[in-house]
Amino acid sequence: MAAASSTSSSGTAILGGGALGLTLAYRLAQAGERVTVIERESEAGGLAAGFRVGDSGVWLEKFYHHLFRTDTTIISLINELGLGDKLYWGQPNSSIQIAGQPYELAGSVRSILGITPLPVLSRFRLGAAGLFLKLLPSPDLLEGTTASAWLRRWMGRAAYETVWEPQLRGKFGAYADKVAMPWMWGRIHCRTSSLGYLRGGFQQIYEALAAAIVAHGGELRLGTDVRSVTRGAEGGLRVVSSAGDETYARVVSTLAPRLTFRLVPDLPADFRERYDWGTAYGAHCLILALDRPLLRDVYWLSITDPTYPFLAAVEHTNYIPAAEYGGRHLLYLGNYLPMDDPRMRYSADEALAAYLPHLARLNPDFSPDWIREKWRFAAPFAQPIVTTDYKDHIPPHETPLPNFYMANMFQVYPQDRGQNYSVALANKLAQRLTAK
Ligand SMILES: Cc1cc2nc3c(=O)[nH]c(=O)nc-3n(C[C@H](O)[C@H](O)[C@H](O)COP(=O)(O)OP(=O)(O)OC[C@H]3O[C@@H](n4cnc5c(N)ncnc54)[C@H](O)[C@@H]3O)c2cc1C
Repeated sequence: MAAASSTSSSGTAILGGGALGLTLAYRLAQAGERVTVIERESEAGGLAAGFRVGDSGVWLEKFYHHLFRTDTTIISLINELGLGDKLYWGQPNSSIQIAGQPYELAGSVRSILGITPLPVLSRFRLGAAGLFLKLLPSPDLLEGTTASAWLRRWMGRAAYETVWEPQLRGKFGAYADKVAMPWMWGRIHCRTSSLGYLRGGFQQIYEALAAAIVAHGGELRLGTDVRSVTRGAEGGLRVVSSAGDETYARVVSTLAPRLTFRLVPDLPADFRERYDWGTAYGAHCLILALDRPLLRDVYWLSITDPTYPFLAAVEHTNYIPAAEYGGRHLLYLGNYLPMDDPRMRYSADEALAAYLPHLARLNPDFSPDWIREKWRFAAPFAQPIVTTDYKDHIPPHETPLPNFYMANMFQVYPQDRGQNYSVALANKLAQRLTAK
């Protein structure tokens, strides 16, 4: 959709058409405001977007996704959009690899006692400290502490080095020792072993939101890259994009702060100094369609052996039946990486060549002729690096540039970012903006 060039300032432009931008646009449009969502990609949904799996026509996320029981805000949205009957809850096997073998990590006493490579006392400490975090209602007393120091102290060296350290290293690389303990509290406290999936793909939420925005008189500009936002005529803000040049009364950027600061030169130096801050990793996933299961009954396998070239193997069809994807067994091989790491640019063929020798380590029967199809996805700014000083650098929604707002998943703290929290931020900001 091409944008007309205009100088009249009206309506709200929302930069980014992921969970946050679309929910915000929907709420503002419901309140009678004129909204335009500008999204670079050709489909809505951002990091949670899906693609259609071959001739099955069913949406699958580019990056593995599920919900937790505690994700109540997005569950409400799913129901509101009439998709509630597609929300499926199950308890698939989530495991961690120890000495080459998968051990279920469901948080139950049975699963913790089952981690037999750990001495009994370590299993007890792992369970007791985990229970403490489950019961601790707020992470305030953990502020300023790193996850590595806290977990090592309270769970003991063996449990930390066997269970947590490899996962922190896999996700945060060189920053593993600096990750904030409140973030780890969020991972343990707010998560459930019961997992939710929207049968037919989470993309249905984003398609439904897009349709609802248009039905309320809003606009969605897909495939449109925002290039800059500057002060415009009549106190408005001028948005230059690949589709033209327009002026809006209000602009909300849902892009990562670093990207937002690059686009908005009028944000003052002191604001920039405090909030144009920190590091984020990108995500890379190779998805294989196999003619049979690889991980047998395991849905999620955290890879802890650093000689593997990926950090998670997620067999989606050990959770949602392969029959829903034309009999394809769908396996994600995922990594979080520094954005300039050459592996972020791996094509599907390059990733497969690097990963292939390791698939037989996961299942000795594996043969390359099990592979029917493959897809590869990569995204920058996929995982904020949540260090102990992160909290002090979370930008506010309101900025010193009048009528310019920031709302993004980097403001989610201490919980790990997720669709639920982007939807919750959008609801909160919509309430504030429409109350003015
Ligand atoms: C590997 C992985 C696994 C995950 N697993 C889960 C999970 O299991 N459950 C869960 O709930 N969440 C999960 N998440 C997180 C979830 O995907 C995000 O928290 C959520 O989708 C963020 O939505 P958002 O709208 O805040 O940001 P984004 O989705 O990042 O949206 C920002 C949008 O801005 C667009 N954009 C960027 N620059 C421009 C520009 N210049 N012009 C126009 N548009 C631009 C982007 O294309 C993007 O669509 C996972 C994420 C990853 C990467």
